[in-house]
Amino acid sequence: MAETHTGSYYAATAIPRPGFPRLEGETEADVVVMGGGFTGVNAALELAGRGLRVLLLEANRIGWGASGRNGGQITGSLSGDRAMASEFRRTLGPAADAYIWDLRWRGHDIIRQRVARFGIQCDLKHGHLQAALTPAHAAELRAMAAEAAARGMGDQVSYVEGAALRDLVEIPLYIGGVYNRRNMHVHSLNLVTGEAQAAASLGVRIHEDSKVEGIDHGPRPVVRTAQGRVRCDMVLMAGNAYHRLAQGRMRGALFPAALGIVATEPLPEETARAINPQDIAIYDNRFILDYHRLTADRRLLFGGGTNYSGRPSTDLASELRPAIERTYPRLKGVRIDYQWSGQAGIIPNRIPHLGRIAPNVFYAEGYSGHGIATSHIVAEIMARAMTGDTGEFDTFDAVRRLRLPVGQWLAHQALALGMAWFALKERLR
Ligand SMILES: Cc1cc2nc3c(=O)[nH]c(=O)nc-3n(C[C@H](O)[C@H](O)[C@H](O)COP(=O)(O)OP(=O)(O)OC[C@H]3O[C@@H](n4cnc5c(N)ncnc54)[C@H](O)[C@@H]3O)c2cc1C
Repeated sequence: MAETHTGSYYAATAIPRPGFPRLEGETEADVVVMGGGFTGVNAALELAGRGLRVLLLEANRIGWGASGRNGGQITGSLSGDRAMASEFRRTLGPAADAYIWDLRWRGHDIIRQRVARFGIQCDLKHGHLQAALTPAHAAELRAMAAEAAARGMGDQVSYVEGAALRDLVEIPLYIGGVYNRRNMHVHSLNLVTGEAQAAASLGVRIHEDSKVEGIDHGPRPVVRTAQGRVRCDMVLMAGNAYHRLAQGRMRGALFPAALGIVATEPLPEETARAINPQDIAIYDNRFILDYHRLTADRRLLFGGGTNYSGRPSTDLASELRPAIERTYPRLKGVRIDYQWSGQAGIIPNRIPHLGRIAPNVFYAEGYSGHGIATSHIVAEIMARAMTGDTGEFDTFDAVRRLRLPVGQWLAHQALALGMAWFALKERLR
């Protein structure tokens, strides 16, 4: 039985859009996409744009997974960029660094163009602060701003402190930060459901409440749900941290982590203007970070590292309140209206995991909590690969991976251990 959207701020304020029917009976397609998050929906849209007959199967509702319940921050932070640099140099040589820099920003352009082309209403706004809590963070962020300037983005990215920082946010914990006017924030559920409508308008057949139960491999694979079967030429698995169909090279590569978010009551206009006058999104520079922003109806949406344990928490509001009040002293005692969690797909070296388990069965997953822009880039890379241009796909596919094909319990222990390691590293920073 399909699940409805989680009880999030996003679900409560979603633009009502028509649903899609369950798959029933037998049919055919060129490509079947499994998963209706940003990766699946955008890959379907890209593939349809290239003339293929695409059918998308979503177990629950479009955007039910991480895509419809995240922090909404569209940033140039690629997870695993350092590991990516050393891995990609093996295949791309000295061109790797410029390639990775381009990747950081490509997703922003795809999203902006998609929103404009299809008129998607999703509260898309520019502006972001990556904040320093310590002198070590400040040094790293200054270097980041200097690199952006050296690469010609000086008009969009700058290091701020003192009065310039206070003009952006009222957060006493911060000593400086990178102000980035290219980064954005968004109502992520409205973005992904809008993109699904766009995909449908290009001919993609979308079925919700249609969980893939298995794939029969062969020259023309058959994708099975409880009520239907689709014979196709190719499959893209885009179920990220939510599916249990990993096989072959997918097994043990991705660790699901439960991340939690809360949204407060709507803040008075004056309070919202005082704490965040430019209406930007914010995260701090810790390995396990807090991220926050205002919504269109002036709620503070706050996600935090305190719940980065691998398992969903039962009382996020109590866990996150101290961090909210430390960050925004003005919000002491603020009411919390929504709390929810979602599963992110963590990859040990944090490089997005792209590959195939059979010549015609591809997968794309694992953006380690930085997936809005990345999923859009990856969707484009996968669509190119599945229509014959495998250049960028091969670069990701060649990455060396740590795979721990262990059960769910051990995966959680490994993740908790990894997080403890990052917390220790932070203290030594
Ligand atoms: C709480 C939280 C906050 C985050 N904040 C940010 C942020 O601020 N910025 C950022 O860039 N990234 C953020 N992320 C990460 C980002 O949301 C994800 O990386 C991205 O949405 C992943 O998209 P996806 O399509 O790959 O996976 P998902 O959105 O998880 O979609 C997978 C879909 O596949 C479906 N599915 C699973 N199994 C099957 C099956 N057998 N058959 C059919 N369908 C199936 C699921 O129902 C689901 O809808 C956050 C993640 C979480 C959880």
